[in-house]
Amino acid sequence: MIATLYIIATPIGNLEDITYRAVRILGEVDLIAAEDTRHSLKLLNHFGITKPMTSYFDHNKLFKGERILNALRQGKSVALISDAGTPCISDPGYQLVRDAIAEHIPVIPVPGACAAITALSASGLPSDNFSFVGFPPSRQGKRRAFLTKLANNPGTLILYEAPHRLVETLRDIHETMGNRRIVVARELTKIFEELLRGEVASVLELVSEIKVRGEVVVLIEPGEDTPLETEPVEEVLWRLLSDRTISVKDAATKAAEITGVSRSVAYTKALEVRNGADCDKKQ
Ligand code: SAM
Repeated sequence: MIATLYIIATPIGNLEDITYRAVRILGEVDLIAAEDTRHSLKLLNHFGITKPMTSYFDHNKLFKGERILNALRQGKSVALISDAGTPCISDPGYQLVRDAIAEHIPVIPVPGACAAITALSASGLPSDNFSFVGFPPSRQGKRRAFLTKLANNPGTLILYEAPHRLVETLRDIHETMGNRRIVVARELTKIFEELLRGEVASVLELVSEIKVRGEVVVLIEPGEDTPLETEPVEEVLWRLLSDRTISVKDAATKAAEITGVSRSVAYTKALEVRNGADCDKKQ
């Protein structure tokens, strides 16, 4: 193995959610940098992996980052893992990746679990456009300002939250964004996994009654005033040109207005659509 920094995703609960490739590479590298070595040792022991380890967490990342880079400079291969899920996603790793890239050290991602994506996949909220915004600020004033800024975000919002702050954050979501549909995904892949779906007010009522424990992801549907996903220009043109009373030029102008593409692009597409329709008819 040549000097390479592997960014390896580990499970977010269920140990079966690790990839064959992750296990193989963890067993092959010279050094494993882990957020909490004691925590990750349990995972490594489970898979029979014995390797030199070093810690890499928020408060030692500058000093440790330099030592990890030194190991890489000496030709060693290093795997970076976090306590759960994908490193760098609300977890340490970004600076190390950036610095390795600056030194032309290959950085290879080894994909796997990520709580945000896992929650989105089963949320039932629009998944074609979404924004992951990490943890909201813990202070109420800053949190409200943060949420207000995101209120018109086009797409589902995904945030991480600590269970003891869930109720106050849901109250602030209600206040700043209205009674939107949300999903609280709790303890994903674990025994008490639960996805609470509903409008903020009803989910809030529910979580206020039960003391929410464990880890949570909150997903918020896009607001009504946020721009809708635009239809592809070809589809708009098909629709407009299908009644054959509209000219190609007028259809192109209208399609450009609806989709935001330039009139010349819309006109070229309109000709293609019309020609395509004529060919279909001739056959
Ligand atoms: N790097 C991780 C990832 O890829 O998802 C995230 C690490 S961040 C420090 C921890 C937060 O992720 C938790 O507070 C929670 O919001 C979310 N999280 C992690 N595991 C989870 C799980 N099993 N169920 C629900 N949320 C989880």
